[in-house]
Amino acid sequence: MENKITGHTRLAALFATPIRHSVSPMIHNTAFQALGIDAVYLAFEVGTQGLSQAIDSIRNLEMLGANLSMPNKILAVEHMDELSEAARLIGAVNTITNDNGKLTGHNTDGTGFMRSLEDIDVNIIGKKMTIIGAGGAATAIIVQAALDGVKEITVYNRKDDFYDNIKKKLAYISDNTDCIITLHDLADQNELAKDVAGSALLLNATGVGMKPLETQTPIQDFSIIRPDLAVCDVIYTPRETEFLKQARLRGAKTNNGLGMLLYQGAAAFEKWTGKEMPIEIVKPIIENN
Ligand code: NAD
Repeated sequence: MENKITGHTRLAALFATPIRHSVSPMIHNTAFQALGIDAVYLAFEVGTQGLSQAIDSIRNLEMLGANLSMPNKILAVEHMDELSEAARLIGAVNTITNDNGKLTGHNTDGTGFMRSLEDIDVNIIGKKMTIIGAGGAATAIIVQAALDGVKEITVYNRKDDFYDNIKKKLAYISDNTDCIITLHDLADQNELAKDVAGSALLLNATGVGMKPLETQTPIQDFSIIRPDLAVCDVIYTPRETEFLKQARLRGAKTNNGLGMLLYQGAAAFEKWTGKEMPIEIVKPIIENN
């Protein structure tokens, strides 16, 4: 491989653990090379203990910025000089930009998901959606959907120890946007059926459908799926969960989580470089990984 790294080359990085499985270095380095941008992207094994120093290094090394993944997204909030509206409402940062030493925390997971809907020609602005799950991925999507103008979001989660906190969090997001957001018990499948009937989109934002739960589905009664309902999953391994398969068999437009993964990276890339990521070049890397 031709060496193009010089004394001018800038660094972008991913701080997370575990990290070695990540496709982000391949995505960003391919995009940098395709556009002739003098930068490299490296993955660093950083957990909560080393996060503060790693974030300091963004300033000290005059880095382009960084991505964060688990377990650092929430803890990073307190280290930022500024937060985007989405990162503030979500309470988590997955992208940091460096403006001459001023670090701004963004969250591009939700924008990634919203953009992925364009790939299946689905528009949910001004409409209602139903989401199963209320963890990190779900919260990012809920906030971005609310900021983008989705009218109503009904969220279904199992009644676990986090349920009351989730309820408060969703009320806060609802109070700070123009979107009506309510939380319901996932066990209440009759209520879920009613909400799905009035929704344009049903989304699984839980890990149900991927290993070790790959044979399971987050809903049991698939008669609630109709051809004009879009059905999405945040999971991308497997490419088609049982949930998506059952929805596709009932005629729904379906989409897995690959688009969310791709476009959250594209949004970070754009913030660092001011340039659009060359999606047609990067997409096969993600699809074939
Ligand atoms: P999380 O731990 O923050 O939240 C998990 C959610 O799933 C919670 O609401 C939990 O109550 C629910 N849940 C877990 N097990 C369940 C079960 N057996 N039955 C019902 N509900 C259950 O996790 P997260 O970070 O939000 O990740 C959730 C999924 O999203 C994972 O599969 C992850 O791989 C995927 N993800 C995808 C992308 C992407 O870019 N496509 C990005 C982030 C996360």
